[in-house]
Amino acid sequence: MRNLNDLLNVYGLSLNRIYKIAKTLQIDVKIDAIIIECDNIYEFHQITGKPYHIGAIYINGVIISQPFNILRQKGILESTIEHELLHHLIEKNYSMPKWLEEGLILYLTGSKLEDLKGEHKDALKRFMQEVSYEDIPSYVARYHNDNRSNFDPGFQFPSGTPSEP
Ligand SMILES: [Zn+2]
Repeated sequence: MRNLNDLLNVYGLSLNRIYKIAKTLQIDVKIDAIIIECDNIYEFHQITGKPYHIGAIYINGVIISQPFNILRQKGILESTIEHELLHHLIEKNYSMPKWLEEGLILYLTGSKLEDLKGEHKDALKRFMQEVSYEDIPSYVARYHNDNRSNFDPGFQFPSGTPSEP
C-alpha cells in the first residue's frame, strides 16, 4: 500500500491537470484514496480479473495498480494514476452512469478513440455523440450528489397535516 504523496514525489507526477479538470467539473480536489501497487502483472490480473492492457482500476476508494515501474516503462504511469484519481473524485461527488463517467474522464484527459479498446472505446464514442465540451457542466450537473438530494422522497408530511400554520 502506498501513500499517494510518496507516489507523486518519488515518481514526480503532477496533479496540475487534475486541478484543471476538477474546475470544469466544479469539484474540490480532496483525495483520500489509497493505492495498492501489485508486485507483478500476474498478481494484478489475479486480484482485478482485468487484462494486462488495463493499467489500474479504481473501486470504492482504492486504486489497484500494476507495478509502477512497468507502467512507467510503458510511459503511462502518470496518465494511469491521473485517470483513476479522476474516477475517485467524480465518484465522491457524482452518481453518474458508468459510460458517462468513463467517457467524461477519457474525453477530458484527451484520449483518442483509436488508442482505446472495448468498454473504454464505446464510452468515449457515446460521450462524444451526446455531450459537447461547452455542455459538460450542465450535462453532468444533474448527476451531482447535491442535486440528487433535492429529489429525496424520504420525507412526507403525514396525511391530514395542514399545509399552512
Ligand atoms: Zn476508467
